[in-house]
Amino acid sequence: MSERVIPLFDQRLAAFKAELPAHKISASGLLGDALGRPLRDLRISVTDRCNFRCAYCMPKEVFDKDYAYLPQNALLSFEEIARTARLFVAHGVRKLRLTGGEPLLRKNIEVLINMLAAIETPDGEPLDITLTTNGSLLRKKAQLLKDAGLKRLTVSLDGLDDATFRKMNDVDYPVADVLDGIEAARAVGFQSIKVNMVVQRGTNDAQILPMARHFKGTGVTLRFIEYMDVGATNGWRMDQVLPSREVMQRIHSELPLVQLEPSAPGETAERWGYSDTDGKYDKAQGEIGLISSVTQAFCGDCNRARLSTDGKLYLCLFATQGHDLRSLIRSGASDEDIISAIGHIWQKRDDRYSQLRSEMPFDTSTGARKVEMSYIGG
Ligand code: SAM
Ligand code: SF4
Ligand code: SF4
Repeated sequence: MSERVIPLFDQRLAAFKAELPAHKISASGLLGDALGRPLRDLRISVTDRCNFRCAYCMPKEVFDKDYAYLPQNALLSFEEIARTARLFVAHGVRKLRLTGGEPLLRKNIEVLINMLAAIETPDGEPLDITLTTNGSLLRKKAQLLKDAGLKRLTVSLDGLDDATFRKMNDVDYPVADVLDGIEAARAVGFQSIKVNMVVQRGTNDAQILPMARHFKGTGVTLRFIEYMDVGATNGWRMDQVLPSREVMQRIHSELPLVQLEPSAPGETAERWGYSDTDGKYDKAQGEIGLISSVTQAFCGDCNRARLSTDGKLYLCLFATQGHDLRSLIRSGASDEDIISAIGHIWQKRDDRYSQLRSEMPFDTSTGARKVEMSYIGG
């Protein structure tokens, strides 16, 4: 049994003040961080609550009935989220991902999607808006999400074996209901659906091939994520990580694969397509994605920022502290001032946790201070 790390203090209380720089920074769309990385992708956590208790994310022992979730007035309102998103878009953001916690638990989430879908790039183009969900409320919400303007969806599913899945979500939730949610999303017309599977050696790695067989040729792209040392509570151990290379080899031995070009700069997933008998990519059979956050750091072109449920800007998934935009917003700051503050924060960004992790031994002291993924969003 692994020992669980229970944090002794609440990392959410710590934050940097979002300072206004002495010289105003305007939105040129060309903002670069200290390592020259642009700002393109904003992940917005709309709730820190979830109806699942996946042990790798919100272990029951910590997220129990006594856990202090954020109070309602701490959450950014839809208006505050949409305004902040618009200012990030002015700085170059082109992709928004709604996440959490479980984003479909946020009341009237479709209203927020509708507001975000109305934001255009400076060239008048629509944004790429997507949402990551555990799928439990998808049957109920699919039509509303589609009508609100959501184009893409990612559904998390860690296996097809019911007993394994029920154990992993730790609330006894059945596989069939998630598959039903995916079907509902397809039925209302979602054409781009991805399924995320977090692979834990010894827990669900026997599900890799059944999942690949199930989704091959369905138009749904299955992505395998290496189990990461996010947060401070999941008791992560390196021996529970199954490297993506091994995932690829296991699938390739039965269902031959060919490597595909990345779809966009800063893309987190390595793409592999199912091949035909001539060894060429067979588009009708589709592709898989490998997200090797642990064994192959992709910090070099990381263009992602995260906005926590209570309006803090995090520069890295593994950050220990965020920048408090909510106080600035609620102080009555102008759009120009908020744009300037965001620019100032991003320009100083030099985070590259995964890269450093692969270069030096795992630092348990930092580990205990990292914020939880359910709070800043995956
Ligand atoms: N509740 C939603 C869901 O599960 O899809 C959205 C939030 S969840 C934090 C976003 C993604 O992070 C999910 O695909 C989840 O599997 C992944 N995730 C959570 N903890 C992880 C960990 N320790 N390692 C790798 N992926 C993780
Ligand atoms: Fe909830 Fe998603 Fe975390 Fe699982 S991974 S506990 S579904 S937020
Ligand atoms: Fe980006 Fe941080 Fe992940 Fe590196 S570790 S890819 S900087 S979020």
